[in-house]
Amino acid sequence: MPVVDAHAHLFAPEQRDRRAVIAARDATFAEMYGDPAARMATAPELVAAMDEAGIDRAVAAGFAFASPGDCESQNRAIIEAAAEAGERIVPLATVNPAAAGWLSAAEEALDAGARGFGELRPGSQGWDPLGPEGHTLADLAVARGAVLLWHVSEPVGHRYPGKAGGISPTALCALAEAHPGARMIAAHLGGGLSFYLEMPEVRSALANVWFDTAAVTLLYDMGSVARLADLAGPERVLFGSDYPLLSPRRQLQRLRASLPGAIAQAVCGGNATTLFSESHQP
Ligand SMILES: [Zn+2]
Repeated sequence: MPVVDAHAHLFAPEQRDRRAVIAARDATFAEMYGDPAARMATAPELVAAMDEAGIDRAVAAGFAFASPGDCESQNRAIIEAAAEAGERIVPLATVNPAAAGWLSAAEEALDAGARGFGELRPGSQGWDPLGPEGHTLADLAVARGAVLLWHVSEPVGHRYPGKAGGISPTALCALAEAHPGARMIAAHLGGGLSFYLEMPEVRSALANVWFDTAAVTLLYDMGSVARLADLAGPERVLFGSDYPLLSPRRQLQRLRASLPGAIAQAVCGGNATTLFSESHQP
């Protein structure tokens, strides 16, 4: 069974090198990466971390820049890195649906090899996931077999850089219900959304929603992943490290220790392999 990290982040080297310049024009970027101590990784570093952790493939997301130009530079870098890394990097693209021309940029990214979009932060970028842009993005995901990875903002709990600005559990549920064919990943254990899977109508609305474990150790106790697997079904939980925020090796160790063997294998790679092999390219 391949081992897959379903939630890692990459930057273009020139974007990492121009951190201060980008932070001056992008408030969310400044909040999350303005501090020079906040790690920004490039593709060779991600691959080295994967090698160290025994990870076969990583789904690489970018950052939800406000500027379409920054999104495009990042998309180019991640798609190129994925091409160079062979099957080891699964590229996601970033678009800003609040900006003019975003839909053609999104289609171009898919044409170039992106397998989906993320990590989506509609609140940070200033668009409504339940407005026209959100519905258009979900339609595109269905039409192209793309996967949407959402930063889900917990409505409660401690603050952390970048906590706000994602999609709310409520909005994600409504969007999923409106677009049953759209395959989506709710990051960070879905921000509490999984609890409502006990309601039959919510379970039905979320039939095509997966939940990743990104940054779980900063947010929840490790037993929460086993409880999520119990609630959602083990086939709907994806190991994600949130690299470079956290070490994939340590996250993987902790996750494996918290789950029975067969469930751990599915969560740590089997499920993501199925999800992304069902994605199709035109
Ligand atoms: Zn996130």
